[in-house]
Amino acid sequence: MDLLADAAARDRTDPLAFARDLFVPSATPLVAYLDGNSLGRPLKATRQRLTAVVDGAWGTRLIRSWDEQWMELPFALGDDLGAACLGAAPGQTAIGDSTTVLLYKLLRAAVAHAGPARPEIVLDSENFPTDRYVAEGIAAETGAKLVWLHPDPALGVTAANVASALGPRTGVVLLSQVAYKSGYLADLPAITRVAHDAGALVLWDLCHSAGSVPVALDAAGVDLAVGCSYKYLNGGPGAPAFCYVAARLQPVLSQPIQGWMGNSDVFAMGPSYAPASGMRRFISGTPPVLAMTGIQDTVALIDSVGIEAVREKSTALGEFVISYVDSTLSQYGVQVASPRNPAERGGHVTLSHPDARSLVSALWERDVIPDFREPDGIRVGAAPLSSSYTEVAQGLLSLESLLRSTR
Ligand SMILES: *Cc1c(COP(=O)(O)O)cnc(C)c1O
Repeated sequence: MDLLADAAARDRTDPLAFARDLFVPSATPLVAYLDGNSLGRPLKATRQRLTAVVDGAWGTRLIRSWDEQWMELPFALGDDLGAACLGAAPGQTAIGDSTTVLLYKLLRAAVAHAGPARPEIVLDSENFPTDRYVAEGIAAETGAKLVWLHPDPALGVTAANVASALGPRTGVVLLSQVAYKSGYLADLPAITRVAHDAGALVLWDLCHSAGSVPVALDAAGVDLAVGCSYKYLNGGPGAPAFCYVAARLQPVLSQPIQGWMGNSDVFAMGPSYAPASGMRRFISGTPPVLAMTGIQDTVALIDSVGIEAVREKSTALGEFVISYVDSTLSQYGVQVASPRNPAERGGHVTLSHPDARSLVSALWERDVIPDFREPDGIRVGAAPLSSSYTEVAQGLLSLESLLRSTR
């Protein structure tokens, strides 16, 4: 069947097709947005919500809004996110800071908790740069030792890989659930189990999972997690990240950026710091209220449709891309650089081609927006709530016509 006809047929039966109209349309021509895994599109509701905050809670209630809602917003929104996307019971998720800063805070807390008898941090060379850099900094600061895994770049870290690096000196395992390059979906429950069997804590980076892949943090017994809100959660550029700390660990972990907002009595303005109980101790300064505003509508939307439905469409979009590569684009040298098994793949599909860099810039000129990742990757991240099959098909056809014209 012709690709566009196939796409149109899929769009007609797509139970999430309605959601596309909930997003702000591009004001200039846009053929295909294939980078929802880097910066999600805004919902129309978010435009209204931002205006309402400026006019109401900020413009009208002014300082009173701190008492009325903003002091609790990082935790209330964290609980909503935990319920809709993370499999986290209330009281374990907070919003604030960037992923980088939260990684620092939680990894530093975990290293301190593990203590000098367990100074090793297990991590992998394919993880996102910020994760590796933060760990390097903590190693330099604390004397912790980095134990590197070197997974197949087209795949990712398996439980067997992790098991091979664990020992009596392992304190923390730091991994991303979805590999930012290959899209590999790690087996979070199995890896968490092997780490725990070795007496280590696990810190999961969920940047490419949140709002895309169902996560069951409580069920898997995960210790710590962080993730961003501007990718599949559509929180907007620089929207704050989230952190998850299992309830059992909250009383025994101390994070290193002790600020007044994490103090047990915020407004006592006392002589020295005493950490609050619960998730409050993991925040440091004044919560970024406006920047949190954009997250709320997507969390509500995912809650209403169910993360399983989002995942189902995400998987189907991935299969749609892969099958066109196999049937057509492979003859032009395009290869699938992501796992083919959908159970081992997150929300994006990475294609490889020797001219990936120039192909991606030519696609951008044609208003088709995937992204390029070193060395030869074209990442196709179609967000299931804002993308149609037709849009993805048009992107694939643009790529095909480019490949044909440059051959
Ligand atoms: C996007 C991403 C980040 C981004 O961190 P920021 O502090 O928000 O810049 C971190 N880790 C992973 C795995 C990511 O995909």
